[in-house]
Amino acid sequence: MRAFRAVGGTPRFMVSGTGPYLTDADGREYVDLVCSWGPMILGHSHPEVIAAVQEAVSRGTSFGTPGEGEVALAEEIVARIDPVEQVRLVSSGTEATMSAIRLARGFTGRAKVVKFAGCYHGHVDALLAAAGSGVATFGLPDTPGVTGATAGDTVVLPYNDLDAVRAAFAAHPGEIACVITEASPGNMGVVPPAEGFNAGLKELCAANGALYISDEVMTGFRTSKAGWYGVDGVRPDLMTFGKVMGGGFPAAAFGGRGDVMAHLAPAGPVYQAGTLSGNPVATAAGLAQLRLLDDAAYAKIDAVSAELRSLVGDALAEAGVAHTVSAASNMFSVFFTDEPVRDYDDAKKQDVFRFTAFFHAMLEQGVYLPPSAFESWFVSTAHDERAVERIAAALPAAARAGAEATA
Ligand code: PLP
Repeated sequence: MRAFRAVGGTPRFMVSGTGPYLTDADGREYVDLVCSWGPMILGHSHPEVIAAVQEAVSRGTSFGTPGEGEVALAEEIVARIDPVEQVRLVSSGTEATMSAIRLARGFTGRAKVVKFAGCYHGHVDALLAAAGSGVATFGLPDTPGVTGATAGDTVVLPYNDLDAVRAAFAAHPGEIACVITEASPGNMGVVPPAEGFNAGLKELCAANGALYISDEVMTGFRTSKAGWYGVDGVRPDLMTFGKVMGGGFPAAAFGGRGDVMAHLAPAGPVYQAGTLSGNPVATAAGLAQLRLLDDAAYAKIDAVSAELRSLVGDALAEAGVAHTVSAASNMFSVFFTDEPVRDYDDAKKQDVFRFTAFFHAMLEQGVYLPPSAFESWFVSTAHDERAVERIAAALPAAARAGAEATA
């Protein structure tokens, strides 16, 4: 999905990226605030990542055997994230969440999965479900191609609503295998968990014999050295990762409690496999990227994010546009409303048409924002003073465009 359907217009075809910049097929340069939807946390074409990839490629591209790279990457993940006692590498975030859910169902012997409206976990059939009416309803297929039977085991609840989770456990005693949630959601715009929400999920899962799955595909290795776990310290039973850990290549993972992971094949009965899992080039890229992500790197990303948030907020306030800059660590997005946004329904109440005008005005001035009002903005260690100045220079006109837009 590279379309500009949410904002209209023609998507830009990018041909190269260096540091915080992308260049399109017409030779125009943009400051990139998408960073490939998260992975490029060191900016584009980081010399050490490129060198690691070149070195790996020179030795061959796939062996279908165990390899040193996958072990080193697995060790790096386990060392950073305490709840991950064992980890399995896969090739995409979708595969990670799909496999984690299968494992949770296999481990518990239960069928139902709880997810939250507005949380995206990849295009797993069972997770492409939208809520029907009422609390604790069964999911309905969100897209043609997903059957009612597949979506019917998914219970979709409003985000940040522990009472709804309690009600779901009461309505389906002994049937819920797991609750899966984005550790801190970035796929309905950035809507952080309310104080105690993740801890409450963990408690309710534990009390009801279900697993708590924290999807850190987006937040993992981004919101801190240990992802969102490093921020809230709530210990999931299973976790999923992708994006940053692949260094711009297809590498992802799921992991967690050793006793749960022991149920995976070949040690256990729950099947999971992948021809290209633990690919030597992808693991070399991911490992090179993770090794460069030290405390100083996160401090830099956090500082750039804070500076941009304040520049964006000031420009929109100056133009008189109702807005909320919403942040979760260094991830942030802007809601074009001044009402609080705690869940997907709240997020949908914003003036999307104002975002559209703002987005196009930024694009025209060479700043590439996510082409949707419901996505996180991402920065990297490469976003230096020059890049920030270019964004700052573009903001006033874009904010005015947002103010003048009509529905
Ligand atoms: N989970 C979350 C939280 C995501 O943001 C995404 C992708 O944006 C996925 C899972 C799916 O990952 P992938 O696109 O690598 O399949």
